Amino acid sequence: MKILVINCGSSSLKYQLIDMENEGVLAIGLCERIGINGSKLTHKAEGKGKFELEEEMPNHTVAIKLVMDALVNPEHGVIKDTSEISAVGHRVLHAGTIYSDSIVVNEDVKKVIRDCFDLGPLHNPANLMGIEACEAAMPGTPNVAVFDTAFGMGMPEKASLYAIPMEYYEKYSIRRYGFHGTSHSFVSKEALGFCDLDSNNGKVIVCHLGNGASISASIGGKCVDTSMGLTPLEGLIMGTRSGDIDPAVIQFICNKEGKTVNEVLDILNKKSGILGMSGGVSSDFRDVQKAQAEGNHLADTAINAYIYRVAKYIGAYTAAMNGVDAIVFTAGVGENDKPIRAGICSYLSYLGVEIDAEANSHRGERMIISTPDSKVKVCVIPTNEELAIARETKALV
Ligand code: AMP
Repeated sequence: MKILVINCGSSSLKYQLIDMENEGVLAIGLCERIGINGSKLTHKAEGKGKFELEEEMPNHTVAIKLVMDALVNPEHGVIKDTSEISAVGHRVLHAGTIYSDSIVVNEDVKKVIRDCFDLGPLHNPANLMGIEACEAAMPGTPNVAVFDTAFGMGMPEKASLYAIPMEYYEKYSIRRYGFHGTSHSFVSKEALGFCDLDSNNGKVIVCHLGNGASISASIGGKCVDTSMGLTPLEGLIMGTRSGDIDPAVIQFICNKEGKTVNEVLDILNKKSGILGMSGGVSSDFRDVQKAQAEGNHLADTAINAYIYRVAKYIGAYTAAMNGVDAIVFTAGVGENDKPIRAGICSYLSYLGVEIDAEANSHRGERMIISTPDSKVKVCVIPTNEELAIARETKALV
C-alpha cells in the first residue's frame, strides 16, 4: 500500500509518498510560492536525481496536478499511475472540539475544517484547499484528515480549560488545544517501546523543540497536558514566539505605543522569543549560540531563559503525572542541540537524571542519552510527522 502525505501551507505544499510495506519514503517534495510569482516544485525520488520545475502554480489544484505528474514521470517518478496511491493523508491544523481522532474526509469533515477557519486562520484554509485539490485530481481515492489538535483533545478539563468565564468556552470553544499533536503522539508512543516502558502506564514528557516549541506530558501515549493553548503562542519560549506572558503586557504595549491588539499579537508571534530577547540576533539557535559564545549578553540571557522555561515545564509536568519515566527530546533543536539538552538536564538532578556526555554528543539519532544509573531515562527520538500521518491514514482505510 502506497500513501501520499500532504502538508499544505498557505503558499506551500510538502509531500511524501510512503510505501507502507516497509515504511520507506519513495518520493519527497515541495511546491513553493503557490499563488505567488515564481512558483517552483522540487522533487526527489528514491534512487533518482533531484528534479526541479519552475512553473506557475496559481493555486493548490495546479500544484497537486504537478506533483502527480512528477510522481508518474518515467524519468524521476516512482509509480506508473496515480491509481497506485491507496489514500492521501493530510495534515490539518484545527478540528475545534469536534474531532479528537483522525478521520476519513467527507462533506461533514470539510465543513468542520471550514468552521474552524477562525481558530486556524493561516492553516485551515490551506489544508482544505489541499484536500479539495486531491479530490479533484484523484476522484475516488480516500483522503484522511490528521489533526494537529487531536492529541491535546485527550487532556482532562482541569488542563484544557482557561480560568475565564465559561460563556466564552460555550460560545466560541475557547480552550487549550495544544499543537504539534502528531509529533507528540508519535514520539510519546515510540518512547514507550524504545525506553521499555509499560505501554499503558509509562509516563513520558516529550520536548518538541524546533522553531516552534511545545512540551507534553502523557501516560501510556495519552495526553495529560501540553503547553500550547488556543493558539501555538502559549507555553515555551520559541524562535520568534514569546510563549507564556502576562496578558496585561499586551494592553500595556498597546497603550504606550498606540498599537492595536492585533499588532501586538503579531509582535508576540513573529518578533519575540529568542529573536526578540537576543536583541534581534536571530530566531535560529545556531546564530544565537554563536553570539552567546562571542560574549553577547542578550544572546546568553535568551538561551538561558529558553532552557529555564523548558526545565520549569518539566517540573510542572512531573508533578501533573506524579512522576516521570522518560524525557524525550525531538525536532530541530531537540534532536541536534547538545548544549540545550545538557542545559535543560542540568536542572533535573532532583529527579535523579544523569546524562551520559558521550551519548549526548550525538546529533539527530535515536538514542538514550542518560546513564544506566539515571532514575529517569532521557532520550532523543527524531520526530516523523509524515510517517505518523501515513500510519493513521493506513489504519483508517
Ligand atoms: P524545526 O522547526 O524542527 O525544523 O527546527 C528548526 C530549528 O532547529 C532551527 O531554527 C534551529 O534553531 C534548530 N537547529 C537545526 N539544526 C540545528 C543544529 N545542528 N544545532 C542547533 N540547532 C539546530
